[in-house]
Amino acid sequence: MSYPGQPNYCPPPPPYGGNPGYCPPPPQFGGNPGYCPPPPPTVIMQATGNCPSCRMGFLSSHVTCLGVFCAIVLFPIGLICLFAMQEQRCSHCGFCS
Ligand SMILES: [Zn+2]
Repeated sequence: MSYPGQPNYCPPPPPYGGNPGYCPPPPQFGGNPGYCPPPPPTVIMQATGNCPSCRMGFLSSHVTCLGVFCAIVLFPIGLICLFAMQEQRCSHCGFCS
């Protein structure tokens, strides 16, 4: 006695093989031929200084001769002039601001 089986039974679809001519792109890098992977980050220019001119040196305060002169001549008040007349000079390029 043969088993009638399920009348509406459809065989399961075959496992998805996709298009036989279709090859999925490899997941690894380099799928786009025109795309170059970015090079590892290299320090091109290490802007360590705060100089607006060369960006490499450091601006340091220097008192001016006039400031020292004012500090000596106008002693108590001259100190204000001394600190007010400081100039920022770059240690790399000598830029003064
Ligand atoms: Zn500089």
